[in-house]
Amino acid sequence: MTNLDQTTATENNSTSKTAAERYGIMEMPTLEYTPEVAKETAHLYEKVKHHIPEIEWPIHAPYVHAINKIKKERNAVILAHNYMTPEIFHCVADVAGDSLQLAMEAEKVDADIIVQCGVHFMAETSKLLSPSKTVLIPDMKAGCSLAESLTGEDVRLLREANPGVPIVTYVNTSADVKAESDICCTSSNAVRVVESFESDTILLIPDEYLAQNVAKLTKKKILPWKGHCEVHERFTPEELLAYKEADPVIQIVAHPECPPEVVDVADFSGSTSGMIDFAIGQKLGAKVLLVTECSMASNIQEQAEGVEFIKPCNLCPHMKRITLPNILEALVYMREEVVVDPVMAEKARHAVERMVNLKTN
Ligand code: SF4
Repeated sequence: MTNLDQTTATENNSTSKTAAERYGIMEMPTLEYTPEVAKETAHLYEKVKHHIPEIEWPIHAPYVHAINKIKKERNAVILAHNYMTPEIFHCVADVAGDSLQLAMEAEKVDADIIVQCGVHFMAETSKLLSPSKTVLIPDMKAGCSLAESLTGEDVRLLREANPGVPIVTYVNTSADVKAESDICCTSSNAVRVVESFESDTILLIPDEYLAQNVAKLTKKKILPWKGHCEVHERFTPEELLAYKEADPVIQIVAHPECPPEVVDVADFSGSTSGMIDFAIGQKLGAKVLLVTECSMASNIQEQAEGVEFIKPCNLCPHMKRITLPNILEALVYMREEVVVDPVMAEKARHAVERMVNLKTN
């Protein structure tokens, strides 16, 4: 059974009323590009005009207008990951960031409903940290090659095979996996989390490349799992060196989910927020190649004004399942709801909170 199947099964068993029954469904608005829609969305087009041709805006604008109206009526917030397309990221999102930032911000907002524009494990993490809110994902099939490489049962077997070895799981995992682990980590705090244990050996799972990259920065023996992000594993050192050879001033910035030989040729390696800070800190006219999902450069261009982004462009097919039409459907029809079994949620939340507390201590 996949993680998605497990959540759906849990949902069916534990929820007596669906979100649609609790909140009611609305009528689908007319999606026409009227003068009123054009006027009320003009300021939003300004934010995306470098990424969306003017001729295409009449297709997006009616959705943007309807989503922004209905989300207020529903008292909903839209959380958008950095890998969402610019019309989602800039025109309908209330909170944008990486998966953990989104979940932590979602906890603070005064809303009944969260619409998670990202993949399934992110919606679960939001539900863990905001159990009283209704969490919707516009497409339940928005999965993740990395998260799906490991199940809670795998973690239990790893624990049996490695008695006494602490288990650190990356936040890009299902609630089932988090619930079986000792603590979570992000790509920015993984070294710190690993070093917080006295044990000389640590299981750091499921991202094999993150584990290998962390192993280079600590004296601990790191045991990995063979999970990979299908976006970051596609980059090669040869491809990046070719860019550098063509233009030596290009700064290469790689995510630690990339293979170690890719990270080795980068000028900087860091988490999503670390990559953004690096780009923003560059001088006017700098050229930066972000070795990550393609949409991120478009989404941060405004913050890094004057920086030219080189885009080798690997798209995440899972993230790209989220679109303006299915966000609107989520709000109108109140679907698909993400529910986590309360016992599992309690254990998984503990693993996340242990990491967060470590960060602030
Ligand atoms: S970018 Fe990679 S880690 Fe993120 S959702 Fe896609 S496959 Fe998963």
